[in-house]
Amino acid sequence: RLAFEDVGYRVGTTEILKGISLSAEPGEVLCLLGPSGSGKSTLLKIAAGIERPSFGRVLLGDREVAGPQRFVAPEKRGVGLMFQDFALFPHMTVLDNIRFGLRAMDSAAAKREAAAALERVGLADAAGAYPHMLSGGEQQRIALARALTPRPSVLLMDEPFSGLDSRLKDVVRTDTLQILREARATAIVVTHDAEEAMRLGDRIALIRDGSLVQAGTAAELYGRPVDLFAAGFFSELN
Ligand code: ATP
Ligand code: MG
Repeated sequence: RLAFEDVGYRVGTTEILKGISLSAEPGEVLCLLGPSGSGKSTLLKIAAGIERPSFGRVLLGDREVAGPQRFVAPEKRGVGLMFQDFALFPHMTVLDNIRFGLRAMDSAAAKREAAAALERVGLADAAGAYPHMLSGGEQQRIALARALTPRPSVLLMDEPFSGLDSRLKDVVRTDTLQILREARATAIVVTHDAEEAMRLGDRIALIRDGSLVQAGTAAELYGRPVDLFAAGFFSELN
């Protein structure tokens, strides 16, 4: 379980997050949905430990990983990350990119594990390739395999499907959901696409201007929006 308790983030006098309380339960996929600039990536970075909250706390299970007196570094949080701007390492082969996240990187077991992860995303043949030899969509699937290989119990993904064409988006999205379900992982997935959030999320958290507008299942947000903003977000969908 990952919980935000009254999490705020300021840059100078600008309040980017205004006190968000929200949690993702074990095995749940929670989508953070909101317009550009609403603070979704910032909240995810705070969960990952890439940014530190200005106030409030973040809990992973029972453990406080960020708070007024405490800050656990990203690599010690045991969460998997997939950020669009965290590309693959260009100087490593695909297989080594995936193995990188594994502790005993040189072991035969790590190699097998990485190969299995590649197989799961349908790119077993790409093991020896370098990232520049692959298409954007293929690189994204490798990044997904890398994020999932250490079998993190919590996975954080920022717009993981944004660079894909619509056919590939469907494929990779379905794969991702299946992998998350099999691993019984808790995931937070950022998107600004309401339809994607409805397809992926067990629950959706709608964010606007650094505040949580509403959190609930797709049916709840669609059927009982708390305000006009929430209603508007889903109105184009059927
Ligand atoms: P998008 O959908 O476009 O990715 P987002 O919801 O992920 O948007 P964030 O990246 O979290 O939005 O940014 C929220 C707001 O905070 C933006 O207005 C951004 O310019 C601002 N912001 C984020 N980090 C900083 C920073 N370090 N300094 C100044 N402003 C920042
Ligand atoms: Mg963003």
